[in-house]
Amino acid sequence: ATAQIGVTGLAVMGRNLARNLARNGFTVALHNRSPERTRSLVAEHGDEGTFVPSESMADFVASLERPRAVIVMVKAGAPTDAVIDELVPLLEEGDIVVDCGNAHFADTRRREEALRGHGLHFVGTGVSGGEEGALRGPSIMPGGSAESYRKLGPIFEKIAAQVDGVPCCRHIGPDGAGHFVKMVHNGIEYADMQLIAEAYDLLRAGLSASPAEIAEIFREWNGGELESFLIEITADVLGHSDPATARPFVDVVLDQAEQKGTGRWTVQSALDLGIPITGIAEATFARSLSGHADQRAAARRAFPDAGEKWQVDDRDTFVEDVRRALLSSKIVAYAQGFDHIRAGSQEYDWDIDLGGMATIWRGGCIIRARFLDRIREAYDTERDLPTLLVAPWFADRVGAGVPAWRRVVADAARAGVPTPAFSSSLAYFDALRAERLPAALIQGLRDNFGAHTYHRVDREGTFHTLWAGDRSEVEA
Ligand code: NDP
Repeated sequence: ATAQIGVTGLAVMGRNLARNLARNGFTVALHNRSPERTRSLVAEHGDEGTFVPSESMADFVASLERPRAVIVMVKAGAPTDAVIDELVPLLEEGDIVVDCGNAHFADTRRREEALRGHGLHFVGTGVSGGEEGALRGPSIMPGGSAESYRKLGPIFEKIAAQVDGVPCCRHIGPDGAGHFVKMVHNGIEYADMQLIAEAYDLLRAGLSASPAEIAEIFREWNGGELESFLIEITADVLGHSDPATARPFVDVVLDQAEQKGTGRWTVQSALDLGIPITGIAEATFARSLSGHADQRAAARRAFPDAGEKWQVDDRDTFVEDVRRALLSSKIVAYAQGFDHIRAGSQEYDWDIDLGGMATIWRGGCIIRARFLDRIREAYDTERDLPTLLVAPWFADRVGAGVPAWRRVVADAARAGVPTPAFSSSLAYFDALRAERLPAALIQGLRDNFGAHTYHRVDREGTFHTLWAGDRSEVEA
């Protein structure tokens, strides 16, 4: 037994992760259900490091030094269970099974509990960064036991992306914590992309600008507070022309966004935990709306001309307004995502360090962004921050951006340009800061039709009004 770590599942992600491990000096055991993948990896990249290929799972396990660490990188769901079932009888107490696939955190909790019963560590690990990240340094979010991290930490921290000498990997917390934060990471990614798409749409409508001109605006924004991977690739995609037609690439792509499901998982979990992640939810629904082609066609026929003609007077002011609205809305999306992580951490007893999350998302992953440093600072300064919105750096940006945010959302509404994420983020902000909310009326209605009771602003206790009787108030 010579290999320090093994990878089973050598499709694009597993293959690149294995190469990354080998390039960093680790001896890597290799296995895949169909042996061709194992053979081609060794044939094409065998010179990048030390690989120990096996064609049977038993040989693969036998090639690993103890305690064994096995990365499973196969299709999420039933295939992951199938591979775990095959592995478990071959492993010994103290060995570690690492699931780097995109598992739902509830599945990870179930698997962790089952493997704990066998004396094995099960480490659900979020990996972000796609295939490039897997090869050159992803953001890695391992859950599982602290003991398993003693073996895995030094390996993962070495192959992860590094920012200012700090690895984009840390132990997140027990059982499903790693897959949970990866899920929320993807939810934030949905919101970020929707906001960027709305900003593009606004610039296009308001300025009658070409995609190439808007690419320039994004390129400029990427030099400032908004600097991030997604803003950078937005400039790239908007600047691209379709080789076949010479039209802007973005104009030849069908406008129906797809999803693999992590946005949906995030929203479902937030509903369970009672956390209003409105930005992520709007982004998820916006993708789903875009796919309802028949309804869109019918509505287009019924309402061909619903908005006013939009004429922006001052180009520079408008561009700056959209930038500020984008930054404020993005802050809301991240604030909500971090609230969600905090709620999950409390519910499942994970003790997740929120500042630490921002630290490991600074590199390797899709939402890597300059302002994650500010999020880390915010939570490092005040661990129990009620919301990211009130941390000084964010409060300054949002406060200064409010007039622009309102102008953009109001102008968009007048012109009939849909901005579900911009406008719902603004509504969230206004609701959070409101002195009084109409929730009081909702409580009144609930008490009226269902005797659901209410609390008063001026006295302790639970009350009910005898609506059908003499309308006196009784203590419930
Ligand atoms: P796929 O999700 O396409 O899965 C293919 C791999 O799964 C192959 O190795 C295949 O083996 C194996 N497999 C499928 N079914 C079984 C089974 N029943 N028993 C054993 N092995 C099986 O590969 P990816 O590399 O794209 O992704 C791997 C994991 O990483 C997934 O969970 C994915 O969600 C996750 N992920 C992917 C990212 C990406 O950007 N692609 C980013 C982050 C995570 P065989 O060759 O024999 O068919």
